[in-house]
Amino acid sequence: MTQIYGKVALIGLGLIASSMFWASKRAGAAGVTSGYARSEATRETARRIGLCDQVCETAAEAVADADLVVLAVPVGAMSAVAQEIAPHLKPGCTVTDVGSVKRHVIDAVAPHLPEGVNFVAGHPLAGTEHSGPESGFDTLFDNRWTLLVPTESASKAATTQLRAYWEALGANVEEMDADHHDLVLAVTSHAPHLIAYTMVGVADDLRRVTDSEVIKYSAAGFRDFTRIAASDPTMWRDVFLTNKDATLEILGRFTEELFALQRAIRTGDGEHLHAYFTRTRAIRRGIIQAGQDTEAPDFGRGQGKT
Ligand code: NAP
Repeated sequence: MTQIYGKVALIGLGLIASSMFWASKRAGAAGVTSGYARSEATRETARRIGLCDQVCETAAEAVADADLVVLAVPVGAMSAVAQEIAPHLKPGCTVTDVGSVKRHVIDAVAPHLPEGVNFVAGHPLAGTEHSGPESGFDTLFDNRWTLLVPTESASKAATTQLRAYWEALGANVEEMDADHHDLVLAVTSHAPHLIAYTMVGVADDLRRVTDSEVIKYSAAGFRDFTRIAASDPTMWRDVFLTNKDATLEILGRFTEELFALQRAIRTGDGEHLHAYFTRTRAIRRGIIQAGQDTEAPDFGRGQGKT
């Protein structure tokens, strides 16, 4: 048990914040953790399940005296939340976020924060398709990456302390530049989600034709797409609206490759298809070797990790 911060405030009490609380409790990483969510219903649920040591009625109350403030709301809500809490922050505290896009969040949050506050943006690369205060669990971040993007306002000591907190929660931590983060995530997460949404949408259209056969005979490939496409609509709308350029760049490349594969199918170019699939299979092996997934037939997603 190593306490990293005296008081941590979680703003937003959904999947990520609740998992942070349970993981922090497991590690004893915070002396006390306060929490705030905008709806009374979520605050009530949090109190009922013991999520946070104190559930506050306002964000201002939650951040008072906090050494670390975590913004765990959808990316599109970060600016308004930062504005709301700014006058109530403890001088010298650290503010971080868990948003899936970094450049937009930094631009939206930094201008509101008072001088002397350390702003270190962050993104845990762990999640599930579930949301809300009851969806969190203490092992979500175990052996997953959390990327930190320190801004100009952050001292080295503040970044080091935040790194120690995430490590206590079970994560591996790396620092990254905001634009690089957004490009990498467009490849590994954002574009794949859009492709899954599209495939499920296409199948849904087809369902009307084949009278529910798509659901009835749903094969593993399609089932995996439906799991991803069940992710929170607000979160993903915000991701695409705020990581526009990188996502469009990757989708452009994706479309070119898709056309090449389409041509190979039309012309019966089996060699092209076989070589392509051999290359992609090696990538899968690399991910397993890196410990980021398992050989299990359900892709090791006992808890639906993405
Ligand atoms: P979630 O389970 O849907 O919870 C979102 C929380 O934010 C809820 O407490 C909600 O309050 C609050 N909220 C929503 N809109 C708000 C607004 N306009 N103003 C103030 N509060 C608002 O979301 P999550 O999955 O934890 O995601 C939180 C952040 O983590 C997002 O920025 C997302 O990009 C990032 N992230 C998500 C994943 C993932 O897989 N889910 C992975 C990594 C990072 P109410 O309950 O009261 O509505």
